Amino acid sequence: MAAQETVEHKYVYDFAEGNKDLKDLLGGKGANLAEMTNLGLPVPPGFTITTEACKAYLTTGREPDGLAAQIEAHLESLEREMGRKLGDPQDPLLVSVRSGAKFSMPGMMETVLNVGLNDRSVVGLSAQAGGNDRFAWDSYRRLIQMFGKTVCEVPGEEFEHALDDAKRAKGTQNDLDLDADDLRGLVDAYKKIFAKHTGREFPQEPREQLDLAIRAVFESWNAERAVVYRRQERIPADLGTAVNVVAMVFGNLGADSGTGVAFTRDPGSGAQGIYGDYLANAQGEDVVAGIRNTVPLQELEQIDKKSYDELLDYMARLEEHYKDLCDIEFTIERGKLWMLQTRVGKRTAAAAFVIAGQLVDEGLIDLDEALHRVNGAQLAQLMFPRFRLDHEFQPVAKGIGASPGAASGKVVFTSARAVELAAAGESVILVRRETNPDDLNGMIAAKGILTSRGGKTSHAAVVARGMGKTCVSGADELDVNVPAKKFIVAGQTVNEGDVVSIDGTTGKVYLGEVPVMPSEVVQYFEGSLDPEHIDNPLVRAVHRIMTHADAKRRLLVRTNADTGADAARARRFGAEGIGLCRTEHMFLGDRRELVERLILASTDEEREAALAALLPLQREDFIDIFREMDGLPVTVRLIDPPLHEFLPPLEQLAVNVAVAQERGEDVAKEEALLAAVRRMHEENPMLGLRGVRLGLVIPGLFAMQVRAIAEAAVEVTRSGGSACPEIMVPLVGAVQELETVRAEAEKIIAEVVGDSGVEVLIGTMIEVPRAALTAGQIAEAAQFFSFGTNDLTQMGWGFSRDDVEGAFFWRYLELGIFGISPFESIDREGVGRLVRIAAEEGRAARPGLKLGVCGEHGGDPDSVHFFHEVGLDYVSCSPFRVPVARLEAGRAAITTTGSDSR
Ligand code: PEP
Ligand code: MG
Repeated sequence: MAAQETVEHKYVYDFAEGNKDLKDLLGGKGANLAEMTNLGLPVPPGFTITTEACKAYLTTGREPDGLAAQIEAHLESLEREMGRKLGDPQDPLLVSVRSGAKFSMPGMMETVLNVGLNDRSVVGLSAQAGGNDRFAWDSYRRLIQMFGKTVCEVPGEEFEHALDDAKRAKGTQNDLDLDADDLRGLVDAYKKIFAKHTGREFPQEPREQLDLAIRAVFESWNAERAVVYRRQERIPADLGTAVNVVAMVFGNLGADSGTGVAFTRDPGSGAQGIYGDYLANAQGEDVVAGIRNTVPLQELEQIDKKSYDELLDYMARLEEHYKDLCDIEFTIERGKLWMLQTRVGKRTAAAAFVIAGQLVDEGLIDLDEALHRVNGAQLAQLMFPRFRLDHEFQPVAKGIGASPGAASGKVVFTSARAVELAAAGESVILVRRETNPDDLNGMIAAKGILTSRGGKTSHAAVVARGMGKTCVSGADELDVNVPAKKFIVAGQTVNEGDVVSIDGTTGKVYLGEVPVMPSEVVQYFEGSLDPEHIDNPLVRAVHRIMTHADAKRRLLVRTNADTGADAARARRFGAEGIGLCRTEHMFLGDRRELVERLILASTDEEREAALAALLPLQREDFIDIFREMDGLPVTVRLIDPPLHEFLPPLEQLAVNVAVAQERGEDVAKEEALLAAVRRMHEENPMLGLRGVRLGLVIPGLFAMQVRAIAEAAVEVTRSGGSACPEIMVPLVGAVQELETVRAEAEKIIAEVVGDSGVEVLIGTMIEVPRAALTAGQIAEAAQFFSFGTNDLTQMGWGFSRDDVEGAFFWRYLELGIFGISPFESIDREGVGRLVRIAAEEGRAARPGLKLGVCGEHGGDPDSVHFFHEVGLDYVSCSPFRVPVARLEAGRAAITTTGSDSR
């Protein structure tokens, strides 16, 4: 019988054995080193220990069986290739030990250089370097310092202090003035520090140094800063890091040596050219430490033309090979160029679009790939005005970046004052503790909105996003005093008329005016820049990629718009209908008085009179919107919020009545109002008398709205236009609610529409969990569903949407309970599951049921991918998110493996 061979698990790969697609196993750095090696580029030889070895070590607390022997074998072949032995006293091989996870985690994990140096090989290194004692002793002290800190947790400052002492003794501030003897002395000092903290001598055995360094890199995966970084960047915690063991090359061997970084295109703008920095006679860590100033990479041509030309050639080859912007680290050792690292480089949002466009022009990638390489978050960034932060501006507070953009203006505290100053041509920032529907005009007039309370789905945030207006919410360091027309922040008082600047992307608040620049991308969407005739590479690239996304996407994109003006803007941004027209603002302003009459009506006649007065006003609202959308579908939602929102606050009313009574004034009307407000007061209004419940309780309210919608549609059609209304009932939890509303609505519609040819659909929001779970029944009575994921998230999680983000989400994010607020990006497993169930059961009951979403998630990139996967027909989002949703819907259609917006 043949001897049975056990197949050993492979934990170590020579660079020649890997390739760029093995990032899971070899990490990004290892996979790319292998790729460069195989391309024939001059990479110092080495090998990679896999992430699997790391994971095994982290689970069991010891190196897996076979790892030590495999390292030994690869080390031997490295020694053969280099013609040197690790730590050899006469002619030592030295290696670096570097971490390298699948996703780059800059500065988060460990590196140890110069492994293999000890009291004897330091002499050999000096000989190797042509008798350069200073270099050899400097390398040795760097090893003890890095090894001590990284592997043995010796406090780094102790080494720093010893270095400072040595410089002080020498009367210098520059490391380069320390000679070989000084550095030899420093090595002694470092060894003492090492021994004091570890209770042992600095290890002299090279292989022990190597093993301990590898172990330290494994362990650095779980260092606290790495854990926090992964949580923030949403990098899975169980990937582990690979470890690269690479023959050392030195950039600090004299004027003919050096180190640098290079980019194959400008990562800031995407422009083609040669970008990078070079530092002569230095190691990579010196560049980071900023000990001396680097020179622009172009100057290398004068310093070392041969290496420069070679580098340019490699850069071109790498770009051609990776078909993308590459960033590169290199070292020149005595005139010999070595490539130490490459990866597809990080870039700004503008550069991402420009580079994708250029690569298509160059025939390196196709348009699908270009679309894949940009994302909605980048597009959104490009759509907002930005602060020109070239001067030092210090923020005085930080809230939630609720609606992106940059705005400066005079502080005002009331909606009326905002309107007044804006009419006089002033830029204003409306500052409130929180906003409510009464602030709408002021919000429209203001350049930006700043509140001290509320989260990303607070009234201020949602309305501001809808308008594309900059908003910072929940800046709780602000003590806002509206009656006194001032707020206090960081000990300073800001009065009405003082100028502040707010950044709705970062949530930062500045005192004074920070200059702002407009977005060219918005100018393009608005039609004021013609992409074919303008010499702006960004606008041309955006145009090209958007056109492709539109051709590819299956999801339609509608908008949430309540006015003709919003509808018009959304159409320019590419909206294909209105997915949510909220009708509540139509009950404010001048109409508030009518609403009060409706609420206070004590007889049918009084109520009917109030409704009759509201009817023509509502009809005009809808005519305006139908005309703007001309033939595109318009989903109008019947009134949703609790009625008390249209009445004065209870406390204020009670005080007014008491004061007036005291003065002996006639308060009959106010008393009636107070009684009504008391009657309607609810502890949890969001879970109370609102939505369909209101329609069922107040006779004639929904009927008036349905009639106004149908009449408006008929009028638009009769005057030669086209209207496609879809009436949507909010907050339905049971099919019986919908059936009741529908029966009444159908009668009115039939009566109004007659033979005009107008068709009115009736459907419902799915925003109460019970509605999602009984969607099969509800679909029997609904011609369409629109998922109200704001309320579905609120009620699915039991989170008050107005309170929780400011109150405790920070802690949930910190603990990693979720990586992003579920109000911002759909919670696929929970709330998303409700959507999926309702979509499936709804369609099973009524094939062809039209499905859309109109919660805030409709404009969130990751959520758009989810809605594509679930098979919705459209997403609806605020006008400014429409291009983002179009782009992401296109990306979702070409991505087979789900979303990957990283
Ligand atoms: C929702 O709940 O998702 C929704 C769109 O309705 P609103 O935000 O008006 O409650
Ligand atoms: Mg809702």
